[in-house]
Amino acid sequence: MSDNIASRADGAAASGTVLVLNSGSSSLKYQLVHPDTGNVVVSGIVERIGETDVPDHRAALRLVFDEFAAAGIDLTGLVAVGHRVVHGGRSFHSPTVIDDAVLAEIRRLSSLAPLHNPANVEGIEVARELLPGVKQVAVFDTGFFYDLPAAAATYAIDAEVAEKYALRRYGFHGTSHQYVSRKVAEFLGRPIADVNQIVLHLGNGASASAVRGGRAVDTSMGLTPLEGLVMGTRSGDIDPGLVLHLNRAIGLGVDEIDDLLNRRSGLKGLCGENDFRAVRGMIEAGDEAAQLAYDVYVHRLRRYIGAYMVELGRLDAITFTAGVGENDRGIRADALAGMERYGIVVDPELNTGRAVVPTRISPADAEVAVLVVPTNEELAIARAAAAV
Ligand code: AMP
Repeated sequence: MSDNIASRADGAAASGTVLVLNSGSSSLKYQLVHPDTGNVVVSGIVERIGETDVPDHRAALRLVFDEFAAAGIDLTGLVAVGHRVVHGGRSFHSPTVIDDAVLAEIRRLSSLAPLHNPANVEGIEVARELLPGVKQVAVFDTGFFYDLPAAAATYAIDAEVAEKYALRRYGFHGTSHQYVSRKVAEFLGRPIADVNQIVLHLGNGASASAVRGGRAVDTSMGLTPLEGLVMGTRSGDIDPGLVLHLNRAIGLGVDEIDDLLNRRSGLKGLCGENDFRAVRGMIEAGDEAAQLAYDVYVHRLRRYIGAYMVELGRLDAITFTAGVGENDRGIRADALAGMERYGIVVDPELNTGRAVVPTRISPADAEVAVLVVPTNEELAIARAAAAV
């Protein structure tokens, strides 16, 4: 076994499963999952593609198939391959069966997501080649936000320029926001059409959304996944004038600015660590930079919560999800502190550590349900791929 691959096989039958692939620039995450039950047969990640004995995504997927064979997993009976595709632009709003034309369009959209779509295209090409005859489905990270109201999707820039270059707010993490918002309605035992909610996806990347009746009405990420909340290594919102200033007055080139804002900002830029557990540890040890990083993170988060409360008018639920949201009780308490007058209360007795199933952390009689709901993008992609 190559040391590039880390996998975990739970040994159930592969028949009836969907293979979910998430291709990054130097990694390939995979999961073989039963769309109905959510049972995971095997999952794992191939890392450092291109740097080591795994030269490209083709070799990576071959490695995965070798692992399957070694574990006695036979892919006969595979229902579909579900590909996570980051940018669907204005071309795709729902899961789409991939043919040559669809693949060409995903490739064309690479100009909007230069770091992500090319890797997604590569993953699709290899999977089509190695699994001919199996339905290949693209599930778009932007899909859930396709219908954002124009007022939320439009940048106030020259309309002709925006139209010509497709410059608008697209939103990302849509599969997670959609999955979690549906789980919330299920948990509350109410039709999704009746639920007004805010979903806070706080992972290494972070985004917030406002969802009215199952439809996204606003979200914090924009043209790219850089806008919005403070993230592990991304700045989130900044004055766009800062970019001009970095270039004109400081002389940084576009690639240096890209690196600064995408990889050397956020928590990492402010305190040197992007892993939230490490930041928490530093705060507990009295580190001032970590405290400031946390304060900026919380400040931005509260600003979005406030905006979305006003946009939604009536609010039924606020939900935390993803690595930080599911695990860090402190962020949940601090994000919602002092909002009692709006019916938002976090009960410290209920707001304990990690949540592995949907959990309510607000008192039963509080006006707004505050929830922690584990996200599961792989399962959502598998279900979408099986259903289309
Ligand atoms: P994700 O992108 O959803 O995988 O989330 C990754 C983020 O979740 C990283 O910043 C981790 O530090 C954070 N995370 C994972 N486990 C914990 C934990 N137990 N407490 C706090 N943060 C955590």
